[in-house]
Amino acid sequence: MTEASPARRRALGGLGALALAFGVVGAAHARGIVAVRVWPADEYTRITIESDAALRASAQQLGGPDRLVIDIDDVELDDALRELVGKVRPDDPFIAAVRVGQYQPRVVRLVVDLKQPVQPQQFALEPVAAYRHRLVFDLHPTVEPDPLLALIRDKERAEQQAQRAVRDALGEFIGSLDRAPAPASSAPVQTPAPRAPSPTLQKKIDRLIVVAIDPGHGGEDPGAIGPTGLREKDVVLAVARALRDRLNREPGMRAMLTRDADYFVPLHERVRKARRVQADLFVSIHADAFMRREARGASVYALSTNGASSAAARWMAQRENASDLVGGINVRAADAHVMRALLDMSTTAQIKDSLKVGREVLGQMRHVGHLHKREVEQAGFAVLKAPDIPSILVETAFISNPDEERKLRDARYQRRLVDALAAGIGRYFAKNPPLARSRTL
Ligand SMILES: [Zn+2]
Repeated sequence: MTEASPARRRALGGLGALALAFGVVGAAHARGIVAVRVWPADEYTRITIESDAALRASAQQLGGPDRLVIDIDDVELDDALRELVGKVRPDDPFIAAVRVGQYQPRVVRLVVDLKQPVQPQQFALEPVAAYRHRLVFDLHPTVEPDPLLALIRDKERAEQQAQRAVRDALGEFIGSLDRAPAPASSAPVQTPAPRAPSPTLQKKIDRLIVVAIDPGHGGEDPGAIGPTGLREKDVVLAVARALRDRLNREPGMRAMLTRDADYFVPLHERVRKARRVQADLFVSIHADAFMRREARGASVYALSTNGASSAAARWMAQRENASDLVGGINVRAADAHVMRALLDMSTTAQIKDSLKVGREVLGQMRHVGHLHKREVEQAGFAVLKAPDIPSILVETAFISNPDEERKLRDARYQRRLVDALAAGIGRYFAKNPPLARSRTL
């Protein structure tokens, strides 16, 4: 989307190198900008400035009108920075526009015109994967909106509907008693407590099953990229959205996504979102590359606390856990520390349930295509560490395999995949109905 083309990347990198080579004429310390990117989302908007050397910058927020003024030292205003102006989308929740100018001979000033006051976070990332140095500005809202309010409202609406259905059923039941021949005695009318509503209706009231669906990667982290350029982050978002819609059609079930746009969500944040809705299940969706291009088939993973079930599983977990490095997290943000500490309290009960749901899902995936492994594999995936939510990670296929990349693109194949995932999830809950949820949402 906002990615610079590889050719442009090389060209700019080359210029940077050139500037360094001609250091004696005074361009020595000017940093070469490689690319600029903007990732808008309701949760936060990220601006990334990628350069061939670490950048120094200071930011201040000004009011009336709200704007963020960013001064970047030792850079010349170039085309890459000017591109930022055109990369702001009209529907960006936070940014109205960006202006750039050479403020001083060696200082470029970015003025980010805001649609609302923000809590900016600024941090730098070391070169990793395909990226050079990155300077990141995350613009968070000053009041964290509850992205789950909609889900809860939805849930309440569904419960009210269910209660209405029970009332109707009860009414019918009482009505049928009324119609029955009057008892001989004139004892007061008894309420027909023991035969209340049908078990199905009762279950609807007792609880709604909430499934957190986690499309892997996003934003700065594209995930794996297929031979013809299909990006994991895009295909898993499509599958996750379809699965959400599919599960929402099930009575008594509600699904939420940990991200519903192309932006990066840190691993611990994905888990936090699931815990905030007291999800009954966490399903992370991926379509990774593998060491061997010919590798094919789906796999399902659960957490392991004592080592990985295979070398491949360990490799895959390391790869997925690197998502935070590529996607870019602010390691100084306090909540990240607290969250990581909490996530180390994983329990064996969670793993036991995760294996159960994993087996059901794997059993259904068999009908869609090849399985990479017939057993649920285990490794230390950070995203599966919710201590209290059964959590699985599904590698739907290997995007690195040309055949599987083609399938992943195919809407029909995606539909079959979604049906299999939904069927596996359904079977798990049929056998393992969740306990009543505490009503403290
Ligand atoms: Zn992945």
